[in-house]
Amino acid sequence: MSYVFPPAPQASLAVADSADRFPIRRVYCVGRNYADHAREMGAHDQADGREPPFFFSKPADAVVPGGDVPYPPATANLQHEVELVVALGPETAALGDGGADIPVAEALRCVYGYAVGFDLTRRDVQARAKEKGHPWDMGKGFDASAPTGPLHPASAIGHPQRGAIWLKVNGETRQNGDLADMSWRVAEVIAKLSTFVRLAPGDLIFTGTPAGVSTVARGDVLEGGVAGVGELRIRLV
Ligand code: MN
Repeated sequence: MSYVFPPAPQASLAVADSADRFPIRRVYCVGRNYADHAREMGAHDQADGREPPFFFSKPADAVVPGGDVPYPPATANLQHEVELVVALGPETAALGDGGADIPVAEALRCVYGYAVGFDLTRRDVQARAKEKGHPWDMGKGFDASAPTGPLHPASAIGHPQRGAIWLKVNGETRQNGDLADMSWRVAEVIAKLSTFVRLAPGDLIFTGTPAGVSTVARGDVLEGGVAGVGELRIRLV
């Protein structure tokens, strides 16, 4: 079998302290997973507890490493969201119904490792989409919209449940939250997402961002980190 033209290269992520790379299948993102960010986005507190998580996607090749990242076209309001990124490993296919309907109690067994990622967002494009009930794709899934640092295997760092998640722009703190403030924990996110789609090895999940998102410009340096996981630094060019 051959292709009518050479296929695009496999999207992949660096693995810390390893020459091997993690092959990316799909990239899912959770919306509004920290109450303080949900509020700054205009959501109202739920009287009866947590709002169910909702999901959107980015293309696998939107994942790029730290360093110089191109400022995207078609926006006048690019914003940063620092997030804990979960990478699903080989175990995923063996859990639940072959990666679907994974029970919360088993969900962390899916996790190959964790990384720090930035969910770059064209906030103006997203706002117009929300207003009109249009899809978010062009606000969220543009080229290089998911800079992500190297993956740290759970076998080395465990499963971070609390600790700082922060982001600075040109050295000034903009986001400063705590993983413990996630509305839906990593295991719950995996379990819920697996009721909508069959998860598989190679899937990444961006787990949401705390308050403090702000507008950035070409030339800005963004540094972010998650305690116990690592840091990521990009420059918008
Ligand atoms: Mn996000």
